[in-house]
Amino acid sequence: MSIRIALFIKLSYYTFVMKKNEEYVVTCIDETNQAAGIVKIDDMVVFVPGLLKGEKANIRILKVQKSYAFGKIMQFLETSQDRIEPACKVFNKCGGCQYQHIDYKAQLKRKRDHLENRVLKRLEDVEVRDVLGMEHPFYYRNKAQFPVQIKDGKILMGFYRLHSNDIVCCDHCMIQSKKINELYKFIQEHITLAMAQGLRHILMRHAYKTNECQIVFIGSKRNNFDDLIRKLIQKFPDIQSVVFNLNTRKDNVILGKDYEVLYGREFIYESCLSNKVKLHFKSFYQVNPVQMKVLYEQAIKAADLNKDMRCIELYSGVGTIGMAVSKYVKEVIGVEIVQEAVRNAKENCRINQIENCRYICQDATEFARKCAQKEEQIDVVFVDPPRKGMTPQGIEDISTIQPEKIVYISCNPETLIRDLILFKEQGYSCKFIQPVDMFCQTTGLECVVLIERV
Ligand code: SAH
Repeated sequence: MSIRIALFIKLSYYTFVMKKNEEYVVTCIDETNQAAGIVKIDDMVVFVPGLLKGEKANIRILKVQKSYAFGKIMQFLETSQDRIEPACKVFNKCGGCQYQHIDYKAQLKRKRDHLENRVLKRLEDVEVRDVLGMEHPFYYRNKAQFPVQIKDGKILMGFYRLHSNDIVCCDHCMIQSKKINELYKFIQEHITLAMAQGLRHILMRHAYKTNECQIVFIGSKRNNFDDLIRKLIQKFPDIQSVVFNLNTRKDNVILGKDYEVLYGREFIYESCLSNKVKLHFKSFYQVNPVQMKVLYEQAIKAADLNKDMRCIELYSGVGTIGMAVSKYVKEVIGVEIVQEAVRNAKENCRINQIENCRYICQDATEFARKCAQKEEQIDVVFVDPPRKGMTPQGIEDISTIQPEKIVYISCNPETLIRDLILFKEQGYSCKFIQPVDMFCQTTGLECVVLIERV
């Protein structure tokens, strides 16, 4: 009896202490939506990047917090059927892709399941549809922003290592367009130390339909790039725009305000759903042009439009959604905060002879407020905010206008779910979520959501 009590006391006082550098054999029980395997050792949850559900591995503990820890895979003991060999040579170093070690179909399934889990935790009865993926999920990105550094007299340009400011050089990125890969390689070979002084980023855009290319040197000092530009345009006749953008800011915002066109124009032309699109380097444009078409078609289908409808498009960028919508409805009013993008949107309507779209340069929340005060009659509202989502005030004011439908395009499931709850409180209900894979090989996910007035 006394031995039993002693054992009980001993056990209940026993606390497990995990230490850095310890190694454990573990089985992965789940995955986070950021591609980390979840493992439980005693009461500790350990996050192991890259470990897939069901896999068994020997891991080493890297960092211990109070109730959780981080570990890294030392050796696989059993691997998942979903695991494949990553196509990229620097996949394990670069922070750009998180899913290249997973078969594409299994990537899509994971994205849907993570989304559904999160949605159903906070909203009932929402249909989460299967993710619409790409046929060829590589080389899709039309824009890259390469950080540039000088280290030990050498110029480094590439991508950031995960959670770090170290640069991983990579002359063949599997998700950038092939043209951007070529431009990157050429610049890397021909840029000089004098040009790279004070340079922070090189931004490149490649228009998928027209092939036009744009290069923006972003830095704190306007160096002489003439020699490089001459070589570039000789080698790549599709370059239509080379710009220097001055950025002396201390934060991590990439673009500064002032700029100088060094060659050609400050914009390039692209084409989207048969509309010609003028694109200033400061204007936002979807990074996956193939899936952009799928995304917009889904948004238009969800809205079930007709010729009597008046629509608002909030966060309109260069007007691509509004222009695509315009042929089905009576009128579209677009709202966007970046002046250059609004200017592009207006010109794009002119170039494409679209007469029933208007674009306004204003904060979306402010515009919604004015609309609510004027008691405007609006049938459908399209919203496509940046990652941080909408504002509670904007949601309240949009709901006051009482549109029949709201089509919410989101690139961040977290803020999307938060905003859907707010819409619900305003008497709107979410009919379905249609995810579209705009960011293949990464954990990113874009969604089209239909919200209707109850
Ligand atoms: N619908 C467009 C753009 C979506 S990205 C497309 O599909 O291409 C989001 C856009 O919202 C960007 O163009 C950004 O400049 C704009 N934006 C960001 N904050 C804003 C705000 N407070 N009010 C209006 N527009 C804003």
